[in-house]
Amino acid sequence: MEDWVRDNLETAKKLAESGLCNHCLGRMFGKIGTGMTDEQRGEIIRRDLGECGSATAPEEFCPLCENVFDMIGRFAEAAAESVNSVESDNFLIGTRVEPEISRREKEIIEEYGLENAESIKSELNREIGKAAIGMIGRPVEFKNPQVVACVDTRFADVSLDIAPLFIAGRYNKYSREIPQTIWPCRVCHGKGCDHCHGKGKMYMTSVQEIIGDIALEMTGGKEHFFHGMGREDIDARMMGDGRPFVLEISDPKIRNIDLDELAERANESDLAGFRDLHFVKREAVERYKGAASDKEYKVHVVTDGKLNKDKVFEVALSFSNAVIDQRTPRRVEHRRADLVRKRKVHWVRADAVGDSSFDLELRTDSGTYVKEFVSGDDGRSVPSFSERLGVQCRVETLDVTAIDYHEP
Ligand SMILES: [Zn+2]
Ligand SMILES: [Zn+2]
Repeated sequence: MEDWVRDNLETAKKLAESGLCNHCLGRMFGKIGTGMTDEQRGEIIRRDLGECGSATAPEEFCPLCENVFDMIGRFAEAAAESVNSVESDNFLIGTRVEPEISRREKEIIEEYGLENAESIKSELNREIGKAAIGMIGRPVEFKNPQVVACVDTRFADVSLDIAPLFIAGRYNKYSREIPQTIWPCRVCHGKGCDHCHGKGKMYMTSVQEIIGDIALEMTGGKEHFFHGMGREDIDARMMGDGRPFVLEISDPKIRNIDLDELAERANESDLAGFRDLHFVKREAVERYKGAASDKEYKVHVVTDGKLNKDKVFEVALSFSNAVIDQRTPRRVEHRRADLVRKRKVHWVRADAVGDSSFDLELRTDSGTYVKEFVSGDDGRSVPSFSERLGVQCRVETLDVTAIDYHEP
């Protein structure tokens, strides 16, 4: 007789007499010893009990699991078929067990104080996984599986949970007429109405849609989400090396798409450009969103009065490492808390100074309101370019020319 059976003899005897199948009987001691299945544990218990004259046979219909383990082969086939319908580097199998069975199992465990019992869910997951792995030909991954096949043991049907795909890169926005992300119609919220001419959105396209729609097609995914490292206004361009972003594709059926092909196809649009595409993990989204990067801009400024050209250069130079106080601008007041923020203007360079217009290039801290730094926003941004120049200035066009971010 095995030691662990002798140690649990009375309990094992009662459980065996209750007619449990060998899976369920063995599982009640599932955490004792290794190298055997729960079914084998059950067989050993019945063999040892038989040797000491207490032989019992399992009931034809197990009072706990209702013979669910007879279905392992079918569950495995259904799970494999489902996993094989999508592409992934790994997989995991989960099960949904009839609540009534789990309830009965809990009762037995509590009644006999079975500290080494394993749950039916764990045994099913493992046994279905073992039976399915040969039909799937991919490794099992417990921590971050790309695909989880969840077998509902009541109906033998399988639902697939596919981890989203994350693609990072940098984008340029060459148009002053499209937003970064899809902008649903504020009247119909996407259904289509007179206000949006049935399109369901306010703009014909966006940086997100230009790359996202192609990525959806290539991956067979369901939806795309766009996580930019900040965003520029619709009328601003994003030039230079571009702005970092992560594109998220939900439910991708194909994961290993050719990113060069994606970039090439997206770059057929002359509204936006894409580069440095690479796959990233989900964690990148938070990292990108939380990044506070210095930015460089080029703005075209027009003025109300005639300019003193030398003064423009002088004022530009005066904003070297200047700290400015910016109260939340009037134009965003309705959606942001009204606060005064301190921001640093690193440097400003003036160029192309005419009678009533000039260009500025500047580098600032992340989160600086550049239009307001130039105009002064009626005294809400102090000091401002207008204030020091003594002439009211207004930004006519704005380009972001650099975002200082390096992948860790
Ligand atoms: Zn059973
Ligand atoms: Zn609408």
